[in-house]
Order: sequence, then structure tokens, then C-alpha cells
Amino acid sequence: MSSTRHLVVIGGGAAGFFCAVNAARMDSQLRVTIVEKASRVLQKVKVSGGGRCNVTHHCFSIPDMARRYPRGEQFVKRAFRHFFVPDTIEWFASRGVAVKHEADGRMFPVSDSSQTIIDCLLQEANRYGVEVLMNFSVAELTKQAQGWHLQAADGRQLQADLLCVACGGFPKLEQFDWLVKATGHSIVAPVPSLFTFNLPGHAITQLMGVATPVRIKLVGTRWEAEGPCLITHWGLSGPAVLRLSAFGARHLAEAGYQYSVLVNWLPHENETGLREQFVRHRQLKATQKIGNTDGITLPQRLWHFLLAMK
Ligand SMILES: Cc1cc2nc3c(=O)[nH]c(=O)nc-3n(C[C@H](O)[C@H](O)[C@H](O)COP(=O)(O)OP(=O)(O)OC[C@H]3O[C@@H](n4cnc5c(N)ncnc54)[C@H](O)[C@@H]3O)c2cc1C
Repeated sequence: MSSTRHLVVIGGGAAGFFCAVNAARMDSQLRVTIVEKASRVLQKVKVSGGGRCNVTHHCFSIPDMARRYPRGEQFVKRAFRHFFVPDTIEWFASRGVAVKHEADGRMFPVSDSSQTIIDCLLQEANRYGVEVLMNFSVAELTKQAQGWHLQAADGRQLQADLLCVACGGFPKLEQFDWLVKATGHSIVAPVPSLFTFNLPGHAITQLMGVATPVRIKLVGTRWEAEGPCLITHWGLSGPAVLRLSAFGARHLAEAGYQYSVLVNWLPHENETGLREQFVRHRQLKATQKIGNTDGITLPQRLWHFLLAMK
């Protein structure tokens, strides 16, 4: 009788592949199978980072990095102590994939192609004999005295000694039912995150296309974010807005997506300094309109819009 243990990984995404290839590498006695409900694996990796795959972030402090996670700060801190940014860089480098960082800290493969990351993970899977079963949608999971029994929607069955659930997220709570039933875990109801802000009928939408760095705050909360903001024909977008939507995701859902934001259009200036600058302008260039003043680092259309606001 074989003593080979079988690890089944549910989900052929980034997390499932990373778990599978590392487990297979670290324990040559382990049989590893990935089951994937779709007909292709690593589909999200393909589109991530605009097709370039933002692999990690150029941040080497665990507390600083953990602060960027809206609700999982303590959890990721513990995980990062086991595997952090230098480990990610080294993991890919030792498999021939060099990564580079950009001014905003995002790190991409030097090829600027997510396919490089996909190829690397697929090669690792091949190298360590990880089996991949496609179109295997786990419909039922049963805990047994020794391990797990998996039943696919098409009737296929699998037996596992060890199980890794890496099935990504689902938008609706009931989509986790099969997992809750088998494991008894509780699931926090998912809410949308990383969305833009609609300002129907707001005059600022006339400035669509204008982009500038801001600090943006959800009124009545402690949530704020800093970074580029893009004015669109429907409202506000850009990294600062997306980040704020992630940090305030639960609050915004509870508020029925009716909320106020406060935008600081000059996040690197302070009020006293600006007031002094305007007084100086009045004294030195009394005949020149304030709209033509030098030193205001705002896009001109936005500056004129703000001056015209009542
Ligand atoms: C447009 C876009 C851009 C992104 N850009 C970036 C980026 O640049 N950098 C970054 O870090 N992140 C980015 N992300 C997020 C990133 O892609 C995800 O966080 C990551 O792919 C999640 O990986 P995962 O393995 O946890 O889940 P997934 O990639 O969702 O994989 C889960 C897999 O499980 C399968 N599955 C689900 N249920 C079952 C079941 N019952 N049986 C069998 N299989 C099942 C699914 O089909 C899926 O293939 C982006 C996401 C999107 C959509």
C-alpha cells in the first residue's frame, strides 16, 4: 500500500498554483492535484496589472506594507513574517524571472508581460509533477475521518488527505455555502471594493480628463487616501479614489452608497502657506488676476473652476 499523501488544491489561480508548486517542491512524496472549474488556469493573472502583472510592491517594511490592507492588517502581518516582498522577488529571480519597480512602487516582471509569470508557474507545476484537472467544479466537499471527499458538478470524484481552498472570492454570500457546509467556517459577507465615485450632475464633471494628486476623505469616518485622482464624466476615479473605496468598503455598503467626500486638491500645501502666497500676490501683482498666479500646482482648468465656485 502506498503511503503517498494527496494534496488537492481547489482553484487554479495565483494562490492555488503558488501553494501547489511549493508544496510539491518541498515534499517530493506528496501527490499534488489542482482542480479548476474553468477551462483555463491563471486567468486573472493574465489580466492583472493591465496585462503586465503587478507581482509585488517595492516596500520592505512589514508594518508599512500591512497598513495598506484595509481589513487584514493583523492577518497579513503574520503571513508576511513567513513570506514577504524580498522572498517574492527572490522566488521569481531564482526561476529566471527578474522584476523591476516603478516610481509608485509597483513591481512588474521586466518583460512587462503577465505571461512571464504564468509561464513560470506552469513550468514549476510541470517540473514537480503537479496534476491539473480542468473543468472540475467542486460542488460538494465532505470532511471524512481521514481527509476529504470532493465531488465535481459533472460527477467526478476525488479523495484528498490534505486540502487547500484557493477558490478566490465570490460576490454573493450564498456562493460560499458548499465551503461553509463542509468546514463549518463562518464567512464575512462580501461587499464591493475598488470602485469609482459617481457624482451625478456635479459641475466638476465638466473637467473630465483632469488628473491631479489629492488627499480624499470619507466625511464622518477616519478613512482617507492619497494619490492621483482623475475627474471623469461621471465623477471621480484614479488610484486615490479606488484606494478609498477599498478602505471604506464596509462603511459605504452600510451607507447604501450615499456619502460625502472631502477632497484636498493641494495635499502638499498648508492653509497658512497658501494664504501667505495669496497675500503676497495681492501686494506684488495687484493688477494680475489670481487665476494667473504662479506657484499653484493645480491643473489650470481645475484652479479656475475652484476660483469660480461659490
Ligand atoms: C482586472 C484585474 C487586475 C488585477 N491586477 C492585479 C495586479 O496587478 N496585481 C495584483 O496583485 N492583483 C491584481 N488583481 C487581483 C488578482 O488578480 C487577484 O487578487 C488574484 O488573482 C487572486 O488569486 P486567487 O488565486 O486567490 O483567486 P483567483 O485568481 O480568482 O483564482 C481562483 C480560481 O478558483 C477557481 N474556482 C472557484 N470556485 C471553484 C470550485 N468550486 N471548484 C474549482 N475551482 C474553483 C476559479 O475558477 C479560479 O480560477 C487584479 C484583478 C483583476 C480582476
